[in-house]
Amino acid sequence: MPIDATRPYDDANVFAKILRGEIPARRVYEDEFALAFYDIAPQAPVHLLVIPKGAYVSWDDFSARASEAEIAGFTRAIGHVAREHVGSGYRLLANTGSDAGQEVPHLHVHIFAGAPLGPMLA
Ligand code: IMP
Repeated sequence: MPIDATRPYDDANVFAKILRGEIPARRVYEDEFALAFYDIAPQAPVHLLVIPKGAYVSWDDFSARASEAEIAGFTRAIGHVAREHVGSGYRLLANTGSDAGQEVPHLHVHIFAGAPLGPMLA
């Protein structure tokens, strides 16, 4: 069910649990600012998620509250993951809020790749 991205951060969300190592994930990259892992229900031959380590509900929340270092670190992590784990060409997507269909209330950027992509995914 899509979420209300304006509500307070929910520490029990599934990506918070992945960050804490409480549930497994196919991790591909981790640094001070970000964690990347494979989406559990891929919508492209390569479908990765990159999440910030900080407790941010959505892109709205992150872009308003995160520090310059967090924003730079997260952005660089996305670029690193795309360069290291994806071939040529990829699509980034951050569903934000219920109208966009955001389901997990922890900011995540989808990376889709591995084939010519249709007009919309996720
Ligand atoms: P959203 O619709 O942009 O919020 O995307 C949420 C994504 O999280 C979906 O693509 C789900 O398949 C993915 N997802 C949900 N639970 C897990 C999990 O435990 N591991 C990896 N991906 C997950």
